[in-house]
Amino acid sequence: MREKIAVVGSGMAGLAAAWYLGDAHEVTVFEKHPGAGIMAHGVEAEAGRIDVPLRVIYPGYYPQLFALLREAGVRVEALDASLSFTDAGGRCFFRYANHGLGGKTLPMVSARALLNPDAWRIVRDLARFMWQVPGELAQGQLKGHSIGDYLSGKGYSPAFTEGFLIPCFAGINTVSNDHVRATPADVIAGYFSRGFLFSRVYRAVGGASAIASALSRRITHARFGESLQGVRRDGQGVVVQMQDGVEQRFDRVIFATQANQVSHLLHDIRADERAVLEGIRYDKVEVLMHRDPRLAPAQRATWSPVNYMLSDKHDRPMITIWVNALIPSHASTPEPVFQTLNPQIVPDESLVLQRTTLERPIVDAHSGERLAHLDALHAEPGRRVFFCGSYAANGIPLLESATASAKAIARRVGDQLR
Ligand SMILES: Cc1cc2nc3c(=O)[nH]c(=O)nc-3n(C[C@H](O)[C@H](O)[C@H](O)COP(=O)(O)OP(=O)(O)OC[C@H]3O[C@@H](n4cnc5c(N)ncnc54)[C@H](O)[C@@H]3O)c2cc1C
Repeated sequence: MREKIAVVGSGMAGLAAAWYLGDAHEVTVFEKHPGAGIMAHGVEAEAGRIDVPLRVIYPGYYPQLFALLREAGVRVEALDASLSFTDAGGRCFFRYANHGLGGKTLPMVSARALLNPDAWRIVRDLARFMWQVPGELAQGQLKGHSIGDYLSGKGYSPAFTEGFLIPCFAGINTVSNDHVRATPADVIAGYFSRGFLFSRVYRAVGGASAIASALSRRITHARFGESLQGVRRDGQGVVVQMQDGVEQRFDRVIFATQANQVSHLLHDIRADERAVLEGIRYDKVEVLMHRDPRLAPAQRATWSPVNYMLSDKHDRPMITIWVNALIPSHASTPEPVFQTLNPQIVPDESLVLQRTTLERPIVDAHSGERLAHLDALHAEPGRRVFFCGSYAANGIPLLESATASAKAIARRVGDQLR
């Protein structure tokens, strides 16, 4: 049966939901931005649009996303996402370069760099972590432990935990170091165990715009620039109210907004729905697009495509992505362009291209329970309102979880109609 389905939001989750449902149903996508939400914050530069934020993916952790991109005909390109770590004094204490070997990479640390005791401890403990954690994960030994407790209980060195692993995840999940320490150990181990460090890192050729244009092919009606005012259920379906007060009825509505935006929009939200969605906390991240090299490591010779700068004064790392080194199409631009997350140095205003503040869901000890509740809500017979997004699937909130959660809802809708 062909249904009328509304999807609210066109980030990765909304676009994926529209794709999975759009071959069998009439799908209307509402998005408050004038274009697809996934590309809403990008900036134009000489060599083309730069995504804000830049998003990288790797096959081991992103099976559903890679399958979706393949199905929709979106090509991917391999990137060099080598990392550097600099301390508060501007000293680069750890750095590795990725050497590509087909679909794999070998992270290489120079012998000279290993003369630095901190770099040596990081390499030693990283090797131990990579060796031990997959087995412990498979045997369920990490369950119930936060990564902070796990690392200190196992005697990992501060050089590794505070100088590498915690800030690394504060970058991958863009939350504070404290939030990373409280993250369940199995979530972080899951990310490491599926090829991180040894897998090539990719992006969609053309970035978010390419994903948006490919996945939009299955949208029946794209209502971009339409910030919905409200949604309510009644006996016959779901009524969506638009900015101008006009109402439209749908068989089902899929919320693909952030979890913390749903209760403002779903006017008849139930207490159990509210409890699950409002239980998901978010952390803010400022993303600065600029050309100011003072936000990159002090010594240019140590610049990597992705540079972590750590400081005791801040509870999260400053991360400066050297766009020209990361994105092949920007490689030949003469002036460097940077994307800095959590800027901790005031930039020269004349070199600032854009400032954006974004939010990221926090994974904590109760995330698993909340996801189980969400799944139970979605399994209710006759359910008409669903919730998807990067927060709504297991693991770190990334493009993969956004895609996986959209696919799970498309499956639920299919099951109900069978
Ligand atoms: C700094 C940073 C770096 C990141 N790096 C990576 C990375 O390297 N790899 C990776 O996989 N992921 C990365 N991510 C995460 C990834 O970007 C997100 O997981 C993903 O984009 C979330 O998609 P979503 O569809 O769940 O939510 P969103 O992208 O938030 O989409 C929600 C949409 O709903 C729309 N909306 C809200 N309210 C309304 C309304 N009333 N009416 C209509 N529309 C509405 C919004 O405008 C928005 O477009 C990063 C995130 C950040 C912040």
